[in-house]
Amino acid sequence: MGFRHLTVQCQCGAAYERREVRIPIRDIGSFDCTDCGARIEIWSGKMVPLFVRVKTPEDTRRRA
Ligand SMILES: [Zn+2]
Repeated sequence: MGFRHLTVQCQCGAAYERREVRIPIRDIGSFDCTDCGARIEIWSGKMVPLFVRVKTPEDTRRRA
């Protein structure tokens, strides 16, 4: 039991915390990076990912 928290890093340097939620009906959707527009994930089913941005490309550049 418990949520899996994953961090997904985009090619542009933005990072997203990814969690999954179960919804009552099937859903088809996709998530694109809010900074560069790259496709992060496509899903189809009752487990739908939610993405919360935890790092911007600027954050990544500062740390590097
Ligand atoms: Zn990006």
